[in-house]
Amino acid sequence: MASFEVSILGASGGPLDGGNQGVLISTPGNPLNKKYICVDAGSGLRQIASMIVSQNGNVSMGEGCRSDPIESFYERLEEPLHSFVDSRSEIVRGLGPDAMLESNETVMNGALRIFSNMNEYYITHPHLDHIAALVINSPACLATEKVLWGLRTTTEALRKHVFNDILWPNLFAQNKMSLELHTLDDYQSHKVKSIPNWIITPLRVSHGTTVETQLPCLSTIYLIQDKITNNAVAICGDLESDVISRKRWLANAWKHFSATVPLERLKCILIECSCSNATRDEHLYGHLSPNYLIHELKQLSRAYGKPLDGLQVIIMHVKMSVGMRDPRLVILQEIRELAAAQELGDVRFSIALQGYTFVL
Ligand SMILES: [Zn+2]
Ligand SMILES: [Zn+2]
Repeated sequence: MASFEVSILGASGGPLDGGNQGVLISTPGNPLNKKYICVDAGSGLRQIASMIVSQNGNVSMGEGCRSDPIESFYERLEEPLHSFVDSRSEIVRGLGPDAMLESNETVMNGALRIFSNMNEYYITHPHLDHIAALVINSPACLATEKVLWGLRTTTEALRKHVFNDILWPNLFAQNKMSLELHTLDDYQSHKVKSIPNWIITPLRVSHGTTVETQLPCLSTIYLIQDKITNNAVAICGDLESDVISRKRWLANAWKHFSATVPLERLKCILIECSCSNATRDEHLYGHLSPNYLIHELKQLSRAYGKPLDGLQVIIMHVKMSVGMRDPRLVILQEIRELAAAQELGDVRFSIALQGYTFVL
């Protein structure tokens, strides 16, 4: 039985605006009482509405979506879905079968209903491409209580630099709004209030340095564990390899994974791979390329002491760079070739596609 539904609201690493990183996660089950959490919010309510439209459209859910045309801006204007997704991965169009419109419900009302069933945001780091929709969508928080969670660097930045009554109204001080901001501690498990079976643990990682002062730029991996099934899924914010950062933060994260989640229970890692291998180290700016991603997965495999057989790895945050071939396909091919050469095990690599839900 599936444990998690991971809906990709957005997965772009820029520089195209729109479609930036945001993931909605829920458990399969009772559609009337379905609760979600959001990890990052570069995309939000508009995408929820678009996903309702795509699954309520005239294409039947039953026939599958493997041949769906995926928008591309390179050698072809569309690429088939199956060229981005491992053939063994379960993927559905839209938010999944539980998120259909109720009778006489408009798309907007349906989107707001789902949005109101999402009570907790977990933000990996405060870069705009991870929070833009959270800000723009915040007036819709009037109806339901929402809490923004993050490590201190994230919550402080949101309070001081975003909801500061200059860039955006300070909604935390607005009594009519039930919007709260709370800080999580590094490596401290936290109970998800709206989904009581889940605990979520933030793990600090490195995301390069600030441009002017060269200070460390921090980001977060969120490890979500279901206490009943012991299944887990990890969602990573932007990050760089320990090889580049010269820290042991990712090594520590992998150690924590292997100490707390049996490999068979680790259903999926959603992780960035922003740049292709053609990118020089000095142009990675706190991100991964396939060489470094595979290096880090090899470290994960070492932490577990075995090959990563059966693990799903979903690639986020690809940068839409100049070129003939869709960079998502270039990066996926590089990753698959390296993984085979390095004997990583039977890992299923896919690209996170906006508008689709992975069932894990
Ligand atoms: Zn970033
Ligand atoms: Zn980013």
